[in-house]
Amino acid sequence: MTDAERKLWQRLRAGRFSGYKFKRQVPIGAYIADFACISAKLIVEVDGGQHLKQLERDNLRTFHLEREGFQVLRVWSDDALVRTDEVLNMIWQKLNVPAAALSPALSRARERESAMEDAGQHDKVFMREALTLARQGNDAGEVPVGAVVVKDGAIIGRGFNQPIGAHDPTAHAEIMALREAAAQQGNYRLPGCTLYVTLEPCAMCVGAILHARIERVVFGAPDPKTGACGSVIDLTAVQKLNHHARFTGGMLAGECGELLKTFFAGRRK
Ligand SMILES: [Zn+2]
Repeated sequence: MTDAERKLWQRLRAGRFSGYKFKRQVPIGAYIADFACISAKLIVEVDGGQHLKQLERDNLRTFHLEREGFQVLRVWSDDALVRTDEVLNMIWQKLNVPAAALSPALSRARERESAMEDAGQHDKVFMREALTLARQGNDAGEVPVGAVVVKDGAIIGRGFNQPIGAHDPTAHAEIMALREAAAQQGNYRLPGCTLYVTLEPCAMCVGAILHARIERVVFGAPDPKTGACGSVIDLTAVQKLNHHARFTGGMLAGECGELLKTFFAGRRK
């Protein structure tokens, strides 16, 4: 990292940008972005070279990144070093926040708010995906539970409950989704990933989630029969076991539970 990049990076991480989670050296398509805010789809490139050939390459790169839906803000090393505040204001503008209108305290509060709002919206979208998978299980005659694994806003694993069809007592939705995600990543650990599942995970699935180093789990309906996140036992609260994952329940719990209720009512007929 050059001095200019280090200076900019320190400022991006500090204070008023903290709600936007910039990342360093992020691979996007065939390129490595210098700094990227994935949620806002903004890339900040810091460039030293100004030769004609380099410019051509940079333009091509910008073109490809924009095709991936990113906004690209290109700043020269000298600018980032000498006019850091100006560069930060440019970034604010790209993020659509009028920097001058916000006091530091207010801007921090707003960042937190919008980050939480964003997270809530994203959670719902991904839980709906899990619900779609649960319905696939339902159509296959399985207890309707669905799960997805998400990394950096993209689904990398999907699964629905299928122990009957697969002749496999471990074929719960979470396990199926974890397997697909791990294969996709080429890694048996899945740091930085969130798992969404329509039903409270059982003891086996909580175990698998912890082994996989999943960062966050969002589940829908509680499971009074085998739920291991508080309903029957609470493995998530065992400090010696769980160093990694945060668990949140009740997301779209009505819809998730309704699907199960209808399934069991149909079977009793
Ligand atoms: Zn399970």
